[in-house]
Amino acid sequence: MTVHNPFTATVLGTARIGPRRELKRATEGYWAGRLGADELRAVGRELRTRQLTELTAAGLDSVPVGTFSYYDQMLDTTAMFGALPARVAGIADPLDRYFAAARGTENVEPLEMTKWFDTNYHYLVPEIGPGTTFTLHPDKLLDELHEARQLGVPARPVIIGPFTFLKLAKGAEDTDDTGGIAPLDRLNDLLPHYRDLLGRLANAGADWVQIDEPVLVTDLSDAELAQVRRAYAELAGAGRRPAILVATYFGRPGPALPALADMGVEGIALDFVSGTTVDDVAAVPALADKLVVAGVVDGRNVWRTDLDHALSTLGTLLGSTGALAVSSSSSLLHVPYSLEPETDLDPALRSWLAFGAEKVDEVRVLNTALHKGTGAIAEELSTAREAAASRGSDPRLRNEPVRARLAALGEDATHRSPAAERRALQRERLKLPLLPTTTIGSYPQTSAIRRARAALRKGEITAEQYREQMRTEVADVVALQEKLGLDVLVHGEPERNDMVQYFAEQLDGFFATANGWVQSYGTRCVRPPILYGDVARRAAMTVEWIEYAQSLTDKPVKGMLTGPVTILAWSFVRDDQPLADTARQVALAIRDETVDLQSAGIRVVQVDEPALRELLPLRAGAEQAYLDWAVTAFRLATSGVSDATQIHTHLCYSEFGEIIGAIAALDADVTSIEAARSHMEVLDDLNAAGFHLGVGPGVYDIHSPRVPGVEEITASLRSALKAVPAERLWVNPDCGLKTRGPDEVQASLRNMVTAAQAVRR
Ligand code: GLN
Ligand code: ZN
Repeated sequence: MTVHNPFTATVLGTARIGPRRELKRATEGYWAGRLGADELRAVGRELRTRQLTELTAAGLDSVPVGTFSYYDQMLDTTAMFGALPARVAGIADPLDRYFAAARGTENVEPLEMTKWFDTNYHYLVPEIGPGTTFTLHPDKLLDELHEARQLGVPARPVIIGPFTFLKLAKGAEDTDDTGGIAPLDRLNDLLPHYRDLLGRLANAGADWVQIDEPVLVTDLSDAELAQVRRAYAELAGAGRRPAILVATYFGRPGPALPALADMGVEGIALDFVSGTTVDDVAAVPALADKLVVAGVVDGRNVWRTDLDHALSTLGTLLGSTGALAVSSSSSLLHVPYSLEPETDLDPALRSWLAFGAEKVDEVRVLNTALHKGTGAIAEELSTAREAAASRGSDPRLRNEPVRARLAALGEDATHRSPAAERRALQRERLKLPLLPTTTIGSYPQTSAIRRARAALRKGEITAEQYREQMRTEVADVVALQEKLGLDVLVHGEPERNDMVQYFAEQLDGFFATANGWVQSYGTRCVRPPILYGDVARRAAMTVEWIEYAQSLTDKPVKGMLTGPVTILAWSFVRDDQPLADTARQVALAIRDETVDLQSAGIRVVQVDEPALRELLPLRAGAEQAYLDWAVTAFRLATSGVSDATQIHTHLCYSEFGEIIGAIAALDADVTSIEAARSHMEVLDDLNAAGFHLGVGPGVYDIHSPRVPGVEEITASLRSALKAVPAERLWVNPDCGLKTRGPDEVQASLRNMVTAAQAVRR
């Protein structure tokens, strides 16, 4: 059987914030009242038009439509099915209602935000309860489809699938997620609306629809697989509908693949970059009459595709599929738009990369080879081979001294003396009161600080002037902490633009892009550094700052470093060696820094690992191996100091469940942890995991401008004391203070110190 009307070249989705972050500016302008809704919509339309036209001109014969978003695709899906939470229902204007659900208002809490699988993108978590009523509002998608068709674009609408949508939702307040109705129990009520939607798309001229089901690459129970089968049997059975392409990405679908293939859908997209193999496809006979959309171009990392390897994968797939299309492995949402603005990059480095536009071209090239033979892409092949050869042999990729040092390290490089011995020495040296107070590192990044950094970048002030100004900031922060009576001080991190970029700029093996922005959430974009070669520390990175801060006070000042896992998680990483090896190199650089801090008289060093959970593999079977190397890297970074030096770490953004054992294994003397929401739970879990070290469960939520009262913090401390003896309990906010205003910070910390004093008494 042949596939009706297949296509050959596509991507699963695209970035949408704008090549120059135009949508960010417009959206923030709308929020600030500088731009009207019509003007915002015009910017959106203009960006879509440009992108659709470019993708079509670039040679894609099926172009994703509907992946544009003013904030987030999960939120768009929630709105499309009328499932925004009741608390925003009173907001009449649909755009404002949408943004209220995304960001909250004075009176309304926003939806929760969390990581999109193991990427650095964050989605808004739908709240689905037994009382949620679903209704279909397909206008956004239909309008964008219409708009694309008007432009002559071979449009393929993209929606998030019902299974992924519900699986990623959380129970609404009126439900009990564990015992009562889970969002997935509402599948039957939601499916008719998906069927309606398919009908509407077909009527609007769509011949294919892409239904994203990335949840299928995670571990699913048999009951869940049965639900997937049921959902797709029902959708495939819809009377009038486009051909259905179910898109999986970020991993191997495993048993979900045969399940789906049997269900009468016409196509399946598979991610050959994150583990799916040609054998997985060959093992499912039903794929012989389906369209397989082969994700051979990495949608989430920045390296140029190995065309020879991709062609061999594609060639093999030809034999076991009904039709074959070349594609990115995931949406291009996760990579920057284009290399074109990166004019300052070293030409060799540049030749190793492919951002969004270059990836689209790789898809075109591979598709050409598939249909016309490799002779038709001789030039592109030779450029790709040259780039690969240059990358393989570039001396900057290997740093032999670093490799030799790592090879020579023994077991003891990741071990310190027993915690009790360390504790005794540190107590003697630091002489801290019970329930010591501290902060997580950063103080408000005021507009004065940001202005100075911009002025430095533009050459309006000298490096020396910048440094002087930052030293003044440090002195102010130290003075403030002394005045407030905190026990372990910090320097405030004014000199850091970002906790990863700051280190990446000073380490060999990284380079920064000029315009490599990717959306993190809503209008927030980040510019991850690119880790391309062996990592090595050229010189001390932070010592001068911390030493200066320490010179201003007798109280201990905490050195502040970012840990190896977090540095990897928030960078684009090299793909030519195991991540674990790269982590060891970063760890060695951080280790050298801790030792230098110690030599400079610093008695406490914090190594932040807020991203520890983020790299956790999507499948349980792979978790332990990851946690092993992650913990080893942290311990390598923190075991070079003497027992009398106190190591802190800080963790946040996490449901700590699966990593609780790893937190104990980090063996940090003190762990500060985000716990404003689930205080006792985290402590109980830590106890259950045998954790016996110092712990500072955040006593207030820094993500809100609200100043917590003394009573409230006192109560929080008293409840913590039920789970942790006073000798181990630290008092701190739940994260860094850089996004807060100076006045709030002062008031909050004053209350925190007062509460600690009260509880001590
Ligand atoms: N030390 C960092 C800060 O205080 C930690 C930030 C984080 O946890 N993301 O800002
Ligand atoms: Zn934090």
